[in-house]
Amino acid sequence: MRRLMMLGALVSLGLLSMKVAAYQQRPAAPMVVELEEVRANLYMGKGGGGNSAVFVGSDGVTVVDTKNPGWGTPLLEKIKSVTDKPIVRIINTHTHGDHVSGNVDFPATVDIVAQENTAANMKEMRPRTGVAATPGPNIFQRNEGRGLPKRTFKDTMTIGTGADQIDLYYFGRAHTGGDAFVVFPALRAMHSGDAFHTRDLPIMDTNNGGSGVEYSATLAKAAAALTNVDVIINGHNPATTTIADMKIQSEFIAEFVKFVQDAKRAGRTVDDVVATWATPAKYVGYAAANAERVAADAQVIWDETM
Ligand SMILES: [Zn+2]
Repeated sequence: MRRLMMLGALVSLGLLSMKVAAYQQRPAAPMVVELEEVRANLYMGKGGGGNSAVFVGSDGVTVVDTKNPGWGTPLLEKIKSVTDKPIVRIINTHTHGDHVSGNVDFPATVDIVAQENTAANMKEMRPRTGVAATPGPNIFQRNEGRGLPKRTFKDTMTIGTGADQIDLYYFGRAHTGGDAFVVFPALRAMHSGDAFHTRDLPIMDTNNGGSGVEYSATLAKAAAALTNVDVIINGHNPATTTIADMKIQSEFIAEFVKFVQDAKRAGRTVDDVVATWATPAKYVGYAAANAERVAADAQVIWDETM
């Protein structure tokens, strides 16, 4: 199975480089970030990788997640259309390249905050589970360490007070081993990173400390603790969601984990899981099962299950 996945990854890489080659012959598509107002002084930044949050405080702007390589500058340009305040800090929700790579385009004076495991992961920028490593130095090594976190937290951190307050939380292993939940208490709003990315099976990135078996409980813990949140900016959902949606996502993941564990204990295989798992109809608005994601997640849960 592992070997198959590796082969799959190599084939997709090959296809990707062909696509890139074809793409480079055409004029470059414009790199435009769309800013959608979620609350007064809080925007969701879409396009170019994971969703960003842009929070305009009295001392300046906080940006949560900075998108794919090359997307930091278009994000900064777009922010200028809603405020002339300076960017004072970046908060990264987790280590993945589609959430942190734009950091290197920000002024060197900007503070950068992440959970301590994410800060350690960003020095390495390991590929996520099931994906082959890219040879050569990573984006932060190529920029002499610029864009790496300057401050870290373990379980919680509070930045600012009153209308400016930002609360950071770590609730345990899920998408990675360093997923931050970023809460703006005055606005009853949050960025959940990819811990709750959208209504679908998430990536369970054990290469970066994530867990399939612990994932659901981590989300349930967050949902129970964050009673002061009404609206969520997700890592990849095009629209906002709620804490009730996050509880459903936690239940959905628990149901998948049980399905995989039951299969293993019944002496079946990961391939059986891929062939038989379908998104249960009660999960309204959920994506249909994607065989590649089901296989990757089932393998992670399989390996974590005795
Ligand atoms: Zn991610």
